[in-house]
Amino acid sequence: MTSAKLIDGKAHAAAIRQEVSRVAGEWASHHGRPVGLDVILVGDDPASQVYVGSKERQAAAAGLRGKVHRLPRDTQQEALEALIAALNADSNVDGILLQLPLPPHLDAAHAVGCIAPGKDVDGLSTTNAGALVLGLPGLFPCTPSGIIELLKREDVALRGARALVIGRSTLVGLPVARMLTHCDATVTLAHSKSRDLQALALEADVLIVAAGKRHLVPGKWIKPGSVVIDVGIHRDADGALAGDVVFDEAVGRAALLTPVPGGVGPMTIAMLLSNTLKAAHLRAGVIESTSPRTH
Ligand code: NAD
Repeated sequence: MTSAKLIDGKAHAAAIRQEVSRVAGEWASHHGRPVGLDVILVGDDPASQVYVGSKERQAAAAGLRGKVHRLPRDTQQEALEALIAALNADSNVDGILLQLPLPPHLDAAHAVGCIAPGKDVDGLSTTNAGALVLGLPGLFPCTPSGIIELLKREDVALRGARALVIGRSTLVGLPVARMLTHCDATVTLAHSKSRDLQALALEADVLIVAAGKRHLVPGKWIKPGSVVIDVGIHRDADGALAGDVVFDEAVGRAALLTPVPGGVGPMTIAMLLSNTLKAAHLRAGVIESTSPRTH
C-alpha cells in the first residue's frame, strides 16, 4: 500500500512568517513605523483568548506591532463601533481584526461592516468578498488563502484539475472554491444538501474538506493519488485532535495529505500576518509579493 506524503503546515507557516518578517522589516525602515495589526476581543471566551494571544505573539515575532483591545463582555454596539472607527482613522493601523464570535447581544455582521475594507484583514467585508468574486485586488480570508498557499508551495497542478470543496461557509468553503476557480481548477462546491458526496469525491483530483463533521470522509471516498486538504478540527474526549477526514484511511489512498493538527491550522495566523502586510502595501499603493495570487 502506498502512503501519502504529508503536507507540513508548520514548516510552510514558518517560511511565510520569515518572509513576512523580512518584508515587514523593510517596510519599517522605509516608513519609520512598524506595520500595525489591531485585534479586538470582546468578552472572555477561552478559545478566543488563546487565538488572540497567538496572534499577538506571532505578530510581535514577525516584527509587526500587534495590539489587542480587550473589551468587557457587556460592551455595547456603539462603543465597539466607535473603537473600530478610531482604528479606521489611525494611520498607524494597517489591519483590524474583530475576533469572532461576539457575545450574543452584539451584531457581528454590522460591526464587521464598519471595518474599513482596506484594513479588513479577515477579508469578511462585502467589498473584499466582492473583490474575491470578481478577481480584483483585495484582502481575502486567511484560512482559504492558507490552503491555496499550501497547494502552491507543494507544486500541486491546479490548472484543469477537478477540485471538490465540501462546505460552503463564508469563512472557508465559499472563498476557497472561488480561489481555486481563479487558479483554473474545475470546481464543484458541495454542502449539507448535496447528494452522493462519495461519487463527487471519487472524481476529485483535489479534495478540500471544510464541513466541520468529524471523520465525514472515509478512505473509500478518496480518489487514489489525489490531494486531500482537511480543514476540520475536532477535539476528542481524550484531548486528541481529529479532522473531517479519516486520516488513517486517507493516508493509504491520497498522494498528498494534510494532517490534523499540523496541516491547515498553522497557516491561518501566518496568512493573517501576510494579509496585514498586504493591507499596508495596498494602502500605500505598492503591490507586494507575499500575497497569494487569486486571479
Ligand atoms: P461551518 O459550520 O460554518 O460550515 C460548514 C459547511 O459544511 C456548511 O456549508 C455545510 O453545508 C457543510 N456541511 C456540514 N455538514 C455536511 C455534510 N454532512 N456533508 C456535506 N457538507 C456538510 O464551518 P466552517 O467555519 O467552514 O469550518 C469548517 C471546519 O473547519 C470546522 O471543523 C472548523 O473548526 C474548521 N476550521 C479550521 C480552521 C483552521 O484554521 N484550520 C479555520 C476555520 C475553520
